[in-house]
Formats: sequence, C-alpha cells, structure tokens
Amino acid sequence: MKSMDRRRFITAATATAAASTLELENLAKAAQPEQGGTVVFLATWSFGRPAVDHAAQVFHSGGSLLDAVEKGINVPENDPKVESVGYGGLPNAEGEVELDAAIMDGTRHRVGAALNLHRIKNPISVARLVIEKTTHSTLAGEGAYRFAREMGFTPMNLLTAESRAKWLKWKNDPHHKTFWIDQQHHDTIGLVAADSNGHVVSGCSTSGLEWKLPGRVADSGLVGSGVYADDNAGAASATGNGDIMQNYCTSFYIVMLMSMGRSPQAACEECLQHMVRTDASTKTRAEAAVIAINPQGEIGAASMNSSFTLDYAVWRNGASSMHRAKVVYP
Ligand code: ASP
Repeated sequence: MKSMDRRRFITAATATAAASTLELENLAKAAQPEQGGTVVFLATWSFGRPAVDHAAQVFHSGGSLLDAVEKGINVPENDPKVESVGYGGLPNAEGEVELDAAIMDGTRHRVGAALNLHRIKNPISVARLVIEKTTHSTLAGEGAYRFAREMGFTPMNLLTAESRAKWLKWKNDPHHKTFWIDQQHHDTIGLVAADSNGHVVSGCSTSGLEWKLPGRVADSGLVGSGVYADDNAGAASATGNGDIMQNYCTSFYIVMLMSMGRSPQAACEECLQHMVRTDASTKTRAEAAVIAINPQGEIGAASMNSSFTLDYAVWRNGASSMHRAKVVYP
C-alpha cells in the first residue's frame, strides 16, 4: 500500500471505528432513553428527598426501576433520625419496633410485602425478595423474620437511645394516650417511579403509628392501600392514618381512576373526595395524603386537610426538589 493510500485507509478505518463506537453509544442510549432525564421519582416527606436522589443514582448506574425504588427507600430505613421508618422508627406500646413494607412492580403486576417484621431494618428489601425468591406475595411476623434471616439479613436492635427514651417518656406518663382511645404521631416513606418505557413501580415502608398495639399493621405494607402499580395506568402510594385509609384501598383507587383517564393529580384529589363522600367526618378527622405517577411521568399529590400537609420530593431531569401537596379541604 502506498503511503498516501495507507494514510487514507488508516483515516477511513479510524473514522469507521469512531463511527461504530458512536453507533454503539447511540444504540446504548436508545436502549436507555431514561438517561435523557425522563425517569421520574416521587416520594413523601422531606426524608423522601435523599431517597429519590439515591434512587436516581441507582437507576443511572444501571439498576432497574425496582432496584432504584427499593434502594431509595433503604435510605430513610437506615437513617436513625427518621422516626417513622426502619432503624430508629418509634416502637409499639410494648417498646418493640414493628415494620411494614411493600413494593409493587407494575410490569409483572407483582407485589411483595413484609408485615410486622421485627429486628430487621430494611423491610422493603425483604419485601423485594418475597417477589424474587418465592411465589408468595406477603410474609408476616415470625415467618417474615425467618425468611429474612434465611436471605442473609442480620438482626439488630432497632431502638436507638432517642427512640427508647421517647417510648419510656410516653409509657411513664400516667395520662398517656393509647390506641384504645386515640391516635398518635406517624409518617411513612412512599416512593413511586416511572421510567421512559412505560414502566412504573410503587414502594412504601413504615414503622407505623407510634405506640400502636402490638400486631397492628399499617396501610403502607398492604397491596392496594399503601402501594399499587400497573404499567397500564400508573402507580400510587399513601401516607397518613392507615387505620382510616386502609378502609378505602387508596392506592388501588387512584390507579383505577388513572386507568379511566384521570391525570395523577385529579386521581389523588378524587380519592380523598371519595373518602369524604363515604364518611363526611374524614374531611376534618383523616390525616391522609396520597401521591401518584402515570407511565408518562406526570405526577400528582394531595392531602385531605390543612392539619396534615404533605411535603413531597420529586427527582426529574437530573435534580430533586421539594413541593407542597394540594390540600383538598383547606
Ligand atoms: N400510614 C402509616 C400508618 O398508618 C403512617 C403514615 O404514613 O404516616 O402507620
């Protein structure tokens, strides 16, 4: 080969190689259009913000949407300062931390739940493994604990010095309120997500109402109540007094409304309006808030009244931000 020809050949070969590298990169991008920023994560409360940030990081490092939601929820579960989820969650009336969580994959239409789980700080990951490793949907109590142990989770004391001190203060107060007569404080991480391929996921994890009766299960871990996801329509989650909300299957209700064409925002608001239509006292009595997303990444969030306002976190287009949900009955 003459030197000129050789140079042309090398240039052409280099250009071809560069083109095919570019092509490969473009193909990879086409296979993951979500890299363009169209994946959306939406989570309840201010502790939802580090959760959506981490979820986005997991997703953009090659994790699935389900991985992202699970690992995002692990963040508040692992944070001892979050008193309503996972490690450091406030205990039941007997001083024991009982956790409930569920995760639903809208593509396989498959839910996994771990209820009334003791001594394991990541119930959402146990719930995920119920999907991946069993043909069951929900494991509870001692059986859920034994399953978690078999899956390699390490048991630990979920009480922190702070949560134990709060429990002792409540217990030693002769006038303390109990769930035989009144309700106490609470919050929950609900995280819903949509990628750009029409795939949706819903996850929820809680230590439930503080000082609850032992054995009480939150709406958060119940399919249809705390979580629901269907790629045909969208995903939803809920936070608030689960003893009221689980009577309405809030997440299922919202997803069904979206399947009938409602936007996520309209569906959230209509769900809370439905509760009031059914029982007028919920308008002022119910601490209830809901979030929703459709497969296109449009979102919705609403709370019932101004005594329970919901701040929620959104991750979209490379950044997270905090917002206040619409109060339906201000
Ligand atoms: N829904 C949770 C429960 O009922 C608490 C919450 O979300 O605020 O335990």
